[in-house]
Amino acid sequence: MKPTTPYRPLDITLPFPELTAYARTATRLHPRPGAPTAADSSVGGPLLWPEDEAWPECREHGRVRGVRLQRARRYEEILGAARARPCPDGTAGWAYTDAERAEVQEMADAGHRPDRHDGGPLPLLALAQFHVGDVPDLAAYAPPGKDLLQVLWCPFDGHDDGSYSDFGPSTRLFWRRAADVTDPLSAPPEPPIAEHAWYVPVPCVLHPEQIVEYPWADYLPPDLVDRIYAWEDDVEARVGRAAPTYQYDLSLAPGWKIGGWDSWHRTDLTRVHCDACGTEMRLLLTMDSCESQASWGPFPEPGCPTGVRAGRDEYRAFVCPADPAHPHRMSTQ
Ligand SMILES: [Zn+2]
Ligand SMILES: [Zn+2]
Repeated sequence: MKPTTPYRPLDITLPFPELTAYARTATRLHPRPGAPTAADSSVGGPLLWPEDEAWPECREHGRVRGVRLQRARRYEEILGAARARPCPDGTAGWAYTDAERAEVQEMADAGHRPDRHDGGPLPLLALAQFHVGDVPDLAAYAPPGKDLLQVLWCPFDGHDDGSYSDFGPSTRLFWRRAADVTDPLSAPPEPPIAEHAWYVPVPCVLHPEQIVEYPWADYLPPDLVDRIYAWEDDVEARVGRAAPTYQYDLSLAPGWKIGGWDSWHRTDLTRVHCDACGTEMRLLLTMDSCESQASWGPFPEPGCPTGVRAGRDEYRAFVCPADPAHPHRMSTQ
């Protein structure tokens, strides 16, 4: 069954019609483990990459240590299987078999003796690709004639190329026209290791769903925010602690998404500006560790299915609305 956002607890524009001016659509991607092909939109699937185009590399590393990709993928496979099993006491998830427990322990021990890569360029890791035809909110970002966005990253921290934030890998965005790829690359290179297992995505198919979002409160005029909080107090006094809140239930969705509004639940709001021209940038892609927060957990089952965690919860790509050729910037929460 296709994951779907539950009905909103209420329409926040009824008590606050002025929020209508701030409404933005977003497309929740709802990734779920599967076997995407290079023709599909996916997280962690193969990219539709021209055979005659060089695969991008990172040249910023000398000797690096990390976890082998094969090991990272096996780890996620075990977690997925354990999560899917009922526990002996009947509660949800994380029931390892003895063999799995031993294997996870062996991996944890191996973590103290990480694999090594000695210098030389590292091929980037395919992270995701999105077709404009699959993701309604992507068209607004596509440069003329392009209909496919591909995201790759170097799965290590500590880059110096401007395309990363303080916590997270260096990312590269590529736009192309899918129809131009007549001879796709069949076996793309991969880096042999990644800094963390959670920088290696589980192959997921997507179930895009367009929703409407309103801004994180720090983007709104302070007098409006004061009135929203007073309204929340009033609702809570009448219906009790389960009353929905603007920030977590009614404004913006967690999880992987294209477009919409950015959350600032970890830090104060920091407006992201373009390095090239100073224009305030616009949120393109949010990668999130989970999508189950508050009223937003999709039906039938919310999840944290990609295995990807960068930043503390979220890793977001912002792009310049003035010129799509200007470099993107990453931001974390
Ligand atoms: Zn790198
Ligand atoms: Zn710019």
